[in-house]
Amino acid sequence: MDSIVALAKRRGFIFQSSEIYGGFNGFFDYGPLGSELKKNIRDCWWNDMVRRRDDIVGIETSIIMHPKVWEASGHVAGFSDPLVDCKVSKQRYRADQLFFAPVVIDGKNTGYVSALESENTTAELQSAADSFKRKKALQGTLAPVVAKDMTEATPEEIALIPSPATGNAGDLTPPRAFNMMFQTNVGAMTDAASVAYLRPETAQGMFVDFKNVVDTGRVKLPFGIAQIGKSFRNEITPRNFIFRSREFEQMEMEYFIHEDADWSKCHQEWIEWCRQWLLSVGLPESKLTLYQHKKEKLAFYSKGTTDIMFEYPFGVQELWGIAARGNYDLGQHAQASGKPQEIFDEATKKKFVPHVIEPAVGVDRILLAVLCAGYAEEEVKDEKGNVEKRTVLRLSPRIAPVKVAVLPLLKNKDQLVGRARDLYKKLQRRYAVFYDDGGNIGKRYRRQDEIGTPWCVTIDFDTIEKPGDTFTLRERDSMAQRRITEAELFALLEERVY
Ligand code: ATP
Repeated sequence: MDSIVALAKRRGFIFQSSEIYGGFNGFFDYGPLGSELKKNIRDCWWNDMVRRRDDIVGIETSIIMHPKVWEASGHVAGFSDPLVDCKVSKQRYRADQLFFAPVVIDGKNTGYVSALESENTTAELQSAADSFKRKKALQGTLAPVVAKDMTEATPEEIALIPSPATGNAGDLTPPRAFNMMFQTNVGAMTDAASVAYLRPETAQGMFVDFKNVVDTGRVKLPFGIAQIGKSFRNEITPRNFIFRSREFEQMEMEYFIHEDADWSKCHQEWIEWCRQWLLSVGLPESKLTLYQHKKEKLAFYSKGTTDIMFEYPFGVQELWGIAARGNYDLGQHAQASGKPQEIFDEATKKKFVPHVIEPAVGVDRILLAVLCAGYAEEEVKDEKGNVEKRTVLRLSPRIAPVKVAVLPLLKNKDQLVGRARDLYKKLQRRYAVFYDDGGNIGKRYRRQDEIGTPWCVTIDFDTIEKPGDTFTLRERDSMAQRRITEAELFALLEERVY
């Protein structure tokens, strides 16, 4: 992870927000290459989800909506995480990410240890229990620890669990609900009536505009409404680089179906669609798994939720959630606004509120996944046969920030430079391309490998001296080289960049 974060900074993918002021926890900036990569991910999703389908339309709704939207959706009352404070250090923890275990020696409970969630929480708790026993010079056999999180702690236990910050028992508060919506005030007055929220998800925009789209969009069930946009959550513990941040971007789609439709079949189809889409932008199948939420943990209206999980370096984590939400959201808005959110069924001559399948994914989480999956350090031979290290980002051509680097072999030969410039200008009309004439050709290839450019094209003496007007095409992954004409290069790009 450290190498990926370092590369992201060094090559201008991702910076800390407000870095010159020491950064701002949970906020990030995307640099020149990062913003291209992010735009490509968004564009691929939009093209595949909206433009290339006849049954889905796109919208763009405002970030700040009427506060009643968030009351009706349940966010004002319930969009919260359980928070635990350390009264002494003032550190705050998400209760479900703070674990504890009793230290049991010869069957007797002798105290408690705690640890923050990590890849090996249980091992950390076990070693904390070991040192607890040693420090207190306790004799006997230590039992294997049984980890629980703070949401499961009894009031008696809370008083005995040590704070991870101070190491002392009695410093932690019981968990309390912390609403994650960012509040702001709209208008000149700052009072209770002016309170509004930055949206914590884009989905409510699709529900609130449902009738507008139905009345104007010539859509017929089943159909979807999709949106890409920023969402904001005041996460208690933003972490793992851009994985969990306080400002992030979502790509969400609400697929409306008939109340009598086979929702389970539709749900499965969307899970598979999303999985295939992730493969199409270069994520390896071996790192993707499905996690089906347990029935008892689902919201009362939810029929089922499956997450596509990705194996990040810091553990297997949720990337894309695909939820079957019944008709809860439209029903809530109908009730709260007094405006029916129904569709007329020609067959039965009855009105009904459609049900919905919702695939919701974070752009930043996809971006982090493609960086993690694509990053490799390899030993390769240079032109002279010496072994050297190369860092390579194996990004799919669909999303790579630069598609082709155009490299004149020498920068002081007018003919080479002229041909290279001419090709560069032509490519630039359609694709993100890069012109580099600095340093030896091997070094220039390495620079492109590190930022994930799938192809380099070198304009060399054969280009200008031999018939055919061909260039050297060098592939990033295989490092193989072959000769290619301009028409063949455009055909290759047409096929692979879509
Ligand atoms: P988590 O359990 O990780 O907090 P969630 O289940 O609350 O996520 P949803 O509300 O289902 O997430 O949001 C849909 C998608 O938005 C997630 O699958 C994820 O890709 C993305 N997402 C949610 N919260 C964040 C965040 N804080 N930072 C970046 N992306 C996020």
